[in-house]
Amino acid sequence: MKNRILYTKPSITEKEVEYATDAARNGWGERCHEYINRFEESFKQHLGVHYAIATSSCSGALHMGLAALGVGPGDEVILAETNWIASAAPITYLGAKPVFVDILPDTWCINPELAEAAITPRTRAIVAVHLYGNLCEMDQLLAIGDKHGIPVIEDAAEAIGSIYHDKRAGSMGRFGTFSFHGTKTLTTGEGGMFVTNDPDLYEHVLTLSNHGRARGQTKQFWPDMLGFKYKMSNIQAAIGCAQIERIDELIHAKRNIFLGYREGLKDLPLRMNPEKIDTVNGYWMPTIVVDEGVPFDRDHLLALFRKEGIDGRVFFWPLSSLPMFDAQIEHQVSYGIYLRACNLPSYHDMSIADINRVCKVIYESMQRGREY
Ligand SMILES: *Cc1c(COP(=O)(O)O)cnc(C)c1O
Repeated sequence: MKNRILYTKPSITEKEVEYATDAARNGWGERCHEYINRFEESFKQHLGVHYAIATSSCSGALHMGLAALGVGPGDEVILAETNWIASAAPITYLGAKPVFVDILPDTWCINPELAEAAITPRTRAIVAVHLYGNLCEMDQLLAIGDKHGIPVIEDAAEAIGSIYHDKRAGSMGRFGTFSFHGTKTLTTGEGGMFVTNDPDLYEHVLTLSNHGRARGQTKQFWPDMLGFKYKMSNIQAAIGCAQIERIDELIHAKRNIFLGYREGLKDLPLRMNPEKIDTVNGYWMPTIVVDEGVPFDRDHLLALFRKEGIDGRVFFWPLSSLPMFDAQIEHQVSYGIYLRACNLPSYHDMSIADINRVCKVIYESMQRGREY
């Protein structure tokens, strides 16, 4: 009986178990913030930013960050058409409108020229999402942001390990957000992080994150503003501390898995996550996009995967194709890519034999002999 190849699976070692156990046993009362503080410090060091706030999710971090930028009813926030709903939903929580623009065909990330063209007097932010670990064109986006006085923010939930011109994904925008959901490269089960280099924005989000209670406020039960409750628990942070100590190992494994796929699939007419010059891709999610005009049936591939005990996933749907938005089929790159694409399994301990098993099914689905 062949082993089942899971799509993702966290890497939990004795270190995570030890820290979580310690937090469960001792991390209460005066020590209830120890792992949270330590996780935030380690994360800041890893990323090279001044401030970090651990949160219960990336969605919560985005919600608070956008609220702190003053995004509100009637405002517009620009992001790429191809995205997970979590990057768009917090915009709607604030009564603002997500404005979708098409993606670049090579990185599957936001097209900067189209982002600039979509700016109106109501635009309050541009969200750069580094999709599947692939990097947005940050120089161009930041220049556009500067020119129009609009903050560029980074949803780096999928981009731990990705580096753009010596800067880590999430460290370049007005603020950055991360997710530590169970499927992400670094996980705390559920969790996230807000990061920034802006001291005022940090203080604002810190206050928002604690039910609106400002640091230094001595009156008890006294919120200074209406805030949120998106905090990470000390036990989750303990797991995070262990994971961030192992971050190089976690990223290295993702990169190795990707390279295994790239080698295994090199004879097929398809493209995978790019790694442009002067960038490093954290390769959170190995993804294939079959060349245009080549016969390929995504659902057939997923069915073959299922038969072989392999978990695959569809590429993100265009957000505007979802029931809560109005379809914008003129976004031809987004609408042209998702049916030609598929996400491949990539968990930490995945063996080369398992990678080859997946490659074999992809060859089969494209009705080609395996040529290696
Ligand atoms: C996973 C993910 C999120 C959501 O993260 P949560 O922690 O589940 O809120 C947001 N944006 C992107 C790009 C993601 O991949």
